[in-house]
Amino acid sequence: MPSWTCEQCGAQFPDSAAPPHTCPICEDERQFVNWKGQRFLTREALAQTHKLECRDDLGVPGIALTPSFAIGQRALLLREADGCVMWDCVPLATREGIDHVRSLGGLKAIAISHPHYYGAVADWSAAFGDAPVYLHGDDRAFVTRPHRAIVPWTGDNFAISDDISLVRSGGHFAGATMLHWRRGANGRGALFAGDIAMVAMDRRSVSFMYSYPNYIPLNAAAVRRIASSVAQLAFDRIYGAWWGRNIESGAKAAFDASVVRYLAAISDDSAR
Ligand SMILES: [Zn+2]
Ligand SMILES: [Zn+2]
Repeated sequence: MPSWTCEQCGAQFPDSAAPPHTCPICEDERQFVNWKGQRFLTREALAQTHKLECRDDLGVPGIALTPSFAIGQRALLLREADGCVMWDCVPLATREGIDHVRSLGGLKAIAISHPHYYGAVADWSAAFGDAPVYLHGDDRAFVTRPHRAIVPWTGDNFAISDDISLVRSGGHFAGATMLHWRRGANGRGALFAGDIAMVAMDRRSVSFMYSYPNYIPLNAAAVRRIASSVAQLAFDRIYGAWWGRNIESGAKAAFDASVVRYLAAISDDSAR
């Protein structure tokens, strides 16, 4: 029986003879159903029209579908001595992509910022001996393809290794997570933000939303909570969710200034 992938958001669904009727991620108010109606593709059909592009993004190996598919995010591979941590995921795992990751040391773990990027986590985990998949438990209702390797972690902090830790920031989703890599950016520290803090097009600031496509902002309390979740972390660089959407240096100050800017923008103060 085929496995099905949502054409609009890239989430995978369990094997079934017929495609699902709806996608809970697209039906949610943070996303939207395709204007032409909900459609699902088999894994094979998706692989016929899309390949995986594997290349570095600001010194970190990345993987994304080409041409762009669904939300279009890229995964990143944080290399450590005993294997890579895959940060965020893409909707497809191909033989070439798996071989490429194997050449980088294989996968020891997968961690995802939020349900929009769950993609083909089950396929990637299975290709590497059921590598653990760390998804925040508060978002478990959005797991469209349950898998034995999924670890629904709880609380606000989780260490994957000595240098790599997950921080639940909330905001965009209740379990929305960012990743901190102490050795990233040549030892200056890097924050992997997904779209929990969205790297803006000027690549010198970030912003925050409950829904990007439907323009639903976050309130001040949520943004203050995001800011406090990373306040103790040292980082000079932020990696966003798409190719090139990164703040290369000075990212800590840029983040803090972005929080101030955001809070001023939504305040009642008419001076602005
Ligand atoms: Zn969907
Ligand atoms: Zn999102």
